[in-house]
Amino acid sequence: MKPILIVGGGIAGLQAANILHQNNTDFILFEKQASVGGRVSSTKKDGFILDRGFQVLQTSYPEVQRSLDLSKLQLHFFESGAKVKDQLFFNPLRRPFDLFTFDILTFKDVFSLAKIWFRLQGEVPALDGNKQTTQELIESYTFSNRFKNEFLIPFFQGVFLQETLTQPASLFFYYMQQFLYGNAAIPTGGMQAIPDQMASSLPTDKLKLNQEIVAISPTSVTLKSGEIIEGDAVILAVDLPVAAKILGLQTPQTLASRTFYFSAKKAEKEPALLRLVGEQHLLHFTCLTDVNPELAPKGKALYSATSLQGSSEEEVKVALEKQLPGQKLTFIHSFDIPHSLQKVEAYETVKNAANGIVLAGDYLEFPSLQGALHSGSKAAEEILARS
Ligand SMILES: Cc1cc2nc3c(=O)[nH]c(=O)nc-3n(C[C@H](O)[C@H](O)[C@H](O)COP(=O)(O)OP(=O)(O)OC[C@H]3O[C@@H](n4cnc5c(N)ncnc54)[C@H](O)[C@@H]3O)c2cc1C
Repeated sequence: MKPILIVGGGIAGLQAANILHQNNTDFILFEKQASVGGRVSSTKKDGFILDRGFQVLQTSYPEVQRSLDLSKLQLHFFESGAKVKDQLFFNPLRRPFDLFTFDILTFKDVFSLAKIWFRLQGEVPALDGNKQTTQELIESYTFSNRFKNEFLIPFFQGVFLQETLTQPASLFFYYMQQFLYGNAAIPTGGMQAIPDQMASSLPTDKLKLNQEIVAISPTSVTLKSGEIIEGDAVILAVDLPVAAKILGLQTPQTLASRTFYFSAKKAEKEPALLRLVGEQHLLHFTCLTDVNPELAPKGKALYSATSLQGSSEEEVKVALEKQLPGQKLTFIHSFDIPHSLQKVEAYETVKNAANGIVLAGDYLEFPSLQGALHSGSKAAEEILARS
């Protein structure tokens, strides 16, 4: 028996490797970068831990529950809600008695939210094939302009990394269910702790880092050096643009993001909430040390700020300082991630071109850790079912 060859050490590839390993099936995983994790990674700089893009672990995702040891990640939790301008808005299911104290909510917003809540009872598929977009769905409810434009739209612009919410309405319902009933968290060591945990249960000699694969067939991979390695099967667990390139397809359009990190003197602790701004140079920001103090050296606060507009560091800093009067911010770092997320449905052509190569990756489902983990599980199970 030859090993199963896995190309890509992101969450999907690591998940496939773990399931093969748990089933005593030999594998080799090739990862282009020097570390595993792909889009889930963290960088250390000047004593700060900076996630590559603002990301959270949604603990209610079924595959997260099934695959990760959450207790070992030492999670720090966000409060469920958001701060909108200076108004606190908490998840009405957690604080039902506060419902009518939120300035941003009118009676018709409560009525529309109740209708959405009703739709969330029972199983909510992330993708149901319906063509209605999230933007169209939001417009179809009678939300007040204020709630829609200051909370709902900027919140989902941050989730989808899109200005116009063209992702399917089913995905809106699916995420709503996760946000309302689950918890968002960051591990003590930053998001990189997730792939590190997944890799820790794999034999290190099976993880080939700094190995870019340039060509594949259903039973072999070609390294950049020209070396060809044979296997029983190949799992292609790369991101959508690379999968398309390797399979000889046009590069599909993806969604970009830009996250900026700033430090300041530690201020008084505030509720651990996402803060929605919805302005040109600042969509949202968070004081990450209010969520997880371990991300910064003692006495320092760490802020992350996201803009979808290609804004400069100075533009974001000015916009953020306006939100934090009296705070003097120091720029630490920014991450430009051109292929952050993909539009769903973009995968069909890739699937059709696979020709015996087993695919894994969030793009096969929907952009999230759940999508990546589930696609990795399915790829490994498909291979195990062959023997
Ligand atoms: C800014 C941002 C915010 C996000 N926020 C959230 C969030 O809050 N919650 C959530 O659940 N999800 C979030 N996501 C999505 C989540 O990170 C992804 O869905 C998930 O990490 C995708 O995993 P993957 O394994 O499918 O792909 P990737 O992580 O892209 O993994 C692909 C791997 O393949 C490797 N590779 C590529 N080409 C080659 C090659 N030729 N040879 C060998 N290796 C190769 C890459 O280096 C990479 O390691 C966010 C993503 C971004 C970028």
